[in-house]
Formats: sequence, structure tokens, C-alpha cells
Amino acid sequence: METLKQRILADGVALSETVLKVDSFLNHGVDAQLMYEIGTSFKNYFEHHQVTKIFTIESSGIAPAVMTAMQMDLPMVTLKKQSSKILKDDLYQTTVHSFTKSTDYQLTLSKKYISKDDHVLIIDDFLANGEAALGAIRLVEEAGAKVAGIGIVIEKSFQPGRQLLVDKGYDVYSLARISKLGSGIIEFVEE
Ligand code: 5GP
Repeated sequence: METLKQRILADGVALSETVLKVDSFLNHGVDAQLMYEIGTSFKNYFEHHQVTKIFTIESSGIAPAVMTAMQMDLPMVTLKKQSSKILKDDLYQTTVHSFTKSTDYQLTLSKKYISKDDHVLIIDDFLANGEAALGAIRLVEEAGAKVAGIGIVIEKSFQPGRQLLVDKGYDVYSLARISKLGSGIIEFVEE
């Protein structure tokens, strides 16, 4: 997605050879117009994948996921990173290792928001080692539902997540695929 790539080049900061900061439009400030265009791109790719529901992982996946859900006219569910007094009964839970925080969290889904007939599109902001996506997949499959695809806003293609997911047979569609990060360097996969 060309507008996204240009925005990453203009505003993104490579904090290291593995971490990209995009606080001005995706992770802190949110550019709603760009999120809308991201939603359109996901819709165009996934509209014939028989998707019944869109899942995302709080919190930075919510903006692109809600724009996709709106344009595909589908329900959306936010997977929680912790349970609470409100969210405590009839849950699916799985442990996920956080790439950015280097800690584990319990990815949580209330059983009432999934049925075995669902075909779920999972949307997230970044794909690195694939831990978050694999956690979401485990919750969907534990419920007996199917994963219709995985939509990623920014994929770091030099990390193993994409290959892991593709090797397991999942359809991964990423809007910007980064091949290299470094001091002052952001390069994309040639497509
Ligand atoms: P994974 O689970 O694939 O290893 O990492 C994906 C998750 O970690 C995403 O949900 C995202 O929140 C976070 N993440 C991974 N890499 C980056 C990065 O370079 N920048 C930012 N801002 N978040 C990242």
C-alpha cells in the first residue's frame, strides 16, 4: 500500500535494527483517514474469504480493525491482554510473549463472542515473531472456529513471523513489508 509506505518513510523511526516506532499515526496518534484506507485495502483483499468476524488484539490493532469491520459490514472483537473483574467467566485464554515488552500476557476471549461456525479475520498492527497472531489463532481454533486470514499493517519480513504462519497454511496479507531497519534506514521488500 503505497500511501502507507510513504507515511512510514516520512514519520517512522527505526529505534534499532528490529523495532520501528510509528507513534504519530498508528501506535499513539492515530491518522483516521489512513486507517480508513487501510480498511479499504483489507476489505479488497479479504472480501471473498467468507469472513464472518474480525478479531484484533488490543490496543493498536483496534483502529485498523474497526475501519475494516465497518467497510466489510462485519462484527469486530478485541482480544484482551488481561482478564478483569468484568471479564472473568467462560473465557478462552492463552499465554503470549510480547515482542515490545518482553513479558508474557494472557490473551483473553469471552466464549460468547465466537462460535464454531465463525471464519475469523485476524488483524494486527505489526508482525514480528508471530507470537500475537499465533495466540489469536489458538483462541479461534480452541473454539472450533476457522481462521479466514491474517491482515497485518506493518510486517517486518526479516523476522520469522510471516514464514511461520505461511508454513502453517494461513493466508497472511501485509500492507507494508519491511526488509531492513537500522539507524536512518527503512527499506521495503521489493514486490
Ligand atoms: P509478534 O507477536 O509478531 O512477535 O509481535 C507483534 C506485536 O508486537 C504487535 O502486536 C505489536 O504490538 C508489537 N510489535 C512488534 N514489533 C513492533 C515494532 O517494531 N514496533 C511496534 N510499535 N510494535 C511492534
